[in-house]
Amino acid sequence: GFKCGIVGLPNVGKSTLFNALTKTAAAQAENYPFCTIEPNVGDVAIPEPRLFKLAEIAKSAEVIPSRMQFVDIAGLVKGASQGEGLGNQFLANIREVDAVAYVLRCFEDDDITHVAGRINPLEDFEIVETELMLADLESLEKRLPALEKKAKGQDKDAKATIVLVEKALEVLRDGRPARSVEIDADDRKAWKGLQLLTQKPVLFVANVDEDSAATGNDYSKQVEAKAAEEGAKAVIISARIEAELAQLEDDEQAEYLETLGLEEPGLNRMIRTGYELLHLQTYFTAGPKEARAWTIPIGATAPKAAGVIHTDFEKGFIRAETISFDDYVANNGEAGAKEAGKVRLEGKEYIVQDGDVMHFRFAN
Ligand code: GDP
Repeated sequence: GFKCGIVGLPNVGKSTLFNALTKTAAAQAENYPFCTIEPNVGDVAIPEPRLFKLAEIAKSAEVIPSRMQFVDIAGLVKGASQGEGLGNQFLANIREVDAVAYVLRCFEDDDITHVAGRINPLEDFEIVETELMLADLESLEKRLPALEKKAKGQDKDAKATIVLVEKALEVLRDGRPARSVEIDADDRKAWKGLQLLTQKPVLFVANVDEDSAATGNDYSKQVEAKAAEEGAKAVIISARIEAELAQLEDDEQAEYLETLGLEEPGLNRMIRTGYELLHLQTYFTAGPKEARAWTIPIGATAPKAAGVIHTDFEKGFIRAETISFDDYVANNGEAGAKEAGKVRLEGKEYIVQDGDVMHFRFAN
């Protein structure tokens, strides 16, 4: 599964957000099942209204959304990489995530201490990121001597790795994150293998006061500008409101959202943005037994998509009967789409599109 880590300074709203994520999912157990694997890991369903539409048309007995995990990575403070060093648990947690969400405090509240005594989301971001960059530097510098030794022994992989390590060290020493290095497609796998904390795609989460949930505020504008500069994504959210929303039944929730001027809970946006960040997309299978959403990387071919269901589907792939989501809905399901000539027979080279409703033909 795919994992998104939640990091930030203390008292910025991480736990509030994480708890809201887990509660929302728990409250909507039927639609969006949730389970806590460990105290800090939340397994959430991807909010996907299209899936429920398909299930309605196909009269599916069961609806199975795709999922991703959020990991609450607590325990980061300024100077953490010196002194005690980042805790091992902290490092282990963050190394295994696919993307990192930085929660940044964009709300003022005199009753809630800010560790640095002032509200400044961009400086907070720098503090956290600096700790992660220092941890990356340390881990690379530790690995280098052994790699050099291997490279002297004419180990080709070691030589290639050293090139990547040096690229990473160069930017890190310059105070920039590893994700600012451009990597050729051929080297991506080895690059990922370095397991650097600052190499993962980031999501900026601006946690604003309740009154600014719909509009954002001056602080969140700074965060958005920073995200744009980085080519990253930003989400504006009020953790307090999300916590309240998470307690409400569906109809009460809709009413409250309307009074706030919000179209949907911010958490849905956050989950979806996390999904986009990972360059993932969804295709569907739909029938009387179940309607189900499947997660695949953008650009995946039909056999690869089939392989997510079962490796046999990939190995024995013959073709995929494919209906776009819009055609499926417009023709009221598979039979109607067939009559209208909207079922395409796609082969091995087909690049699956987001929202495709698919039926795989395969040989054993
Ligand atoms: P963490 O240390 O980052 O996990 O922060 P918490 O989630 O524990 O939040 C710290 C305090 O800030 C708590 O008292 C929260 O209720 C409060 N808080 C979190 N989000 C908001 C918000 O959007 N507005 C206000 N006013 N307070 C918030």
